[in-house]
Order: sequence, then C-alpha cells, then structure tokens
Amino acid sequence: MYSQILKIIPPERLRWQEPLSAHTTLKVGGPADLMVFPETIEEIQQLVRTCREDGIPYMVIGLGSNLLVRDKGFRGVVIKIGHSLNGLYISGNEIMAEAGIRLSELSKKAAAHGLSGLEFAEGIPGSVGGAVVMNAGAYGGEMSQVISAVSALDGSGNLCTFSPEEMAFGYRSSIFQKGDWIVVSAVMKLSPGNREEIVAKMQEYARLRREKQPLDMPSAGSIFKRPPGVYVGPLLEKMGLKGFKIGDAQVSTKHAGFIVNCGQATAQDIIDLIRYIQKRALEEHNIVLEPEVRIVGEE
Ligand SMILES: Cc1cc2nc3c(=O)[nH]c(=O)nc-3n(C[C@H](O)[C@H](O)[C@H](O)COP(=O)(O)OP(=O)(O)OC[C@H]3O[C@@H](n4cnc5c(N)ncnc54)[C@H](O)[C@@H]3O)c2cc1C
Repeated sequence: MYSQILKIIPPERLRWQEPLSAHTTLKVGGPADLMVFPETIEEIQQLVRTCREDGIPYMVIGLGSNLLVRDKGFRGVVIKIGHSLNGLYISGNEIMAEAGIRLSELSKKAAAHGLSGLEFAEGIPGSVGGAVVMNAGAYGGEMSQVISAVSALDGSGNLCTFSPEEMAFGYRSSIFQKGDWIVVSAVMKLSPGNREEIVAKMQEYARLRREKQPLDMPSAGSIFKRPPGVYVGPLLEKMGLKGFKIGDAQVSTKHAGFIVNCGQATAQDIIDLIRYIQKRALEEHNIVLEPEVRIVGEE
C-alpha cells in the first residue's frame, strides 16, 4: 500500500507506527500508520498525488499545538511540516515564510529587522502553516491583519496562490480548514517600527502569558473558541470548574480556559472533559462552546 511513498521519501524521514503523542503539545494521541517528514514542496506534491491515486488517507500537521489526536491514532499517512520547509526571506517590509517556520522565530526575525505587526505571535507555539490555517491571534492581533498572500497545494498537488479576500479569514478560521489544502508559504506585509519598542511589546506579552497561562503543563492553549461577549476562563471559573478533572485531564487551576494534561491523560479523558463542560455551559447558561482545538484521528 505504501510502496510508492517509499520511493518519494528516504527511510530516515519515515516513521512507522509513530505515536502522535510525541508530536502534540497535549501529549496525547495514538500512532500514525506512517509519519513522513517532507523537506520540499515537490515531495509534498508527490505525496499528495500518490496518496490520492492509492486511496490512502493523509493529514498534515505543523507543531501539533492545536491538535487533539484520538487514542487510536490515525490510519494513513501523517505529513509533518513543522521543522522542515523553514525558509524565510525578507524584502523591504515584506517577509515570505515557509509553512514549517515557528511563529516565535518569525516574530523574532521581524523584530530584529525593525518590522512591526507580528509582536502578538511570539508566544504562540505553532508553525506558520498552522497559524494561517487557524488564523491564530492574541492581544488584539491575528494573522489575517498581516498576511498578503498564501501559497497552498490543492488535493491534486497543484500549487495555488490566495489573496487575503480569497482566504475568508474569520475568528480562528480560514478557507484552509475546508477541503484538502496544504499551506506551504505565506507572505506578510509589516510596517517599519522602532526595534526597542517592538521587543518591549513582545516581552510584555510574554510576561502576561507566563503570569496567566499554565505554560509548564501540556495543553493546546485555549480549548474553546470565545463565544461573542463571553470570556471562557471566567465563565468556567464561575461554574466551579477550575481544577475539575476527568482522569488526568484537568481544567487548569491557573487559567480555566485551558485543559491541561496532568501526566497520564488519554485523549478520551480530554474529550470527555470537553463534552462535560459543553453540556453544563449549555444547560446552565445557554452558551454553546465550540472547541478551538482540532479533534482528529480514528474514532
Ligand atoms: C501554550 C499555548 C498557547 C497558545 N496560545 C495561542 C494564542 O494565543 N492564540 C492562538 O490563536 N492559538 C494559540 N495556541 C494554539 C496554537 O498554537 C495555534 O492554533 C497554532 O497556530 C497552531 O499551529 P500548529 O503548527 O501547532 O498547528 P497544528 O496544531 O499542527 O495543526 C492545527 C490545524 O492546522 C492544520 N495544519 C497545520 N499545518 C498545516 C499546513 N501547513 N497546511 C494545512 N493544514 C495545516 C492541521 O491539520 C490542524 O487541523 C496556543 C497553544 C498552546 C499550547
């Protein structure tokens, strides 16, 4: 079944039965039948075409910081883009970044060049690809404010370019969440700024994160999207859920909007906790909580 893939990716960049818990910040998730680490866009194109021709399911992941993989794992090929495809080019006020670059690295590079607009991104532990797909944001900023173009592969491996209007960005959403798109690079238009002021802003955001978020425990950041006019953390606190546990999955005692893995949590513990919170929020406050984390894998 996988013989064609072995011709595309050399053995040292393939892993069989790879536990996805090792590739997600929640540290849960069963094995992928096969995980591949492509290094070029051409390799990804060939992978997509081969999987399509041979009927093999595939999924792309970045740095796994917004992913909840079920305990049975993923049947098919996981294409891991975080850590590879990490080119970054700066020209004037524009930065072109490949999908595998860490957001923290991107925002530090922008700051070093006196470019403002990505200060919000420094503490978001994802890749550029994952951040485009999620329209990641914080402290009043989000990817949609700076992105001027994105290149992505379609389900047949064809390279397409998107303008901001075509990306249909919304709150933690984009066109790339629908269909088989694989984001390979993004161009960001920034503004010239004072380097010291940019760095000071980034340091202030980092301080706020350390103060308010359980950064020393495995999590996926905010587990739910923010419903209009509602702050999820204070809501769950009011409902007495801070510190509430199912198995080893816990509503963080530091920030009730985060679910943390206290050590041995399974994906099912986390899913059960999500469902329990959703049910109570609906019953007690008539509020629909939608997971921000992407739940994937075999049911
Ligand atoms: C401590 C902590 C703090 C966080 N704070 C924030 C925050 O302030 N704001 C915020 O918005 N998020 C935050 N997050 C969530 C997360 O970091 C972001 O959503 C991030 O953008 C996800 O990037 P990733 O590379 O880890 O994506 P992954 O988790 O690997 O993937 C997320 C989704 O994108 C898809 N995907 C990933 N890469 C690609 C690609 N190249 N092409 C197509 N699809 C792709 C995956 O299939 C999946 O559906 C936080 C997470 C943690 C753990």
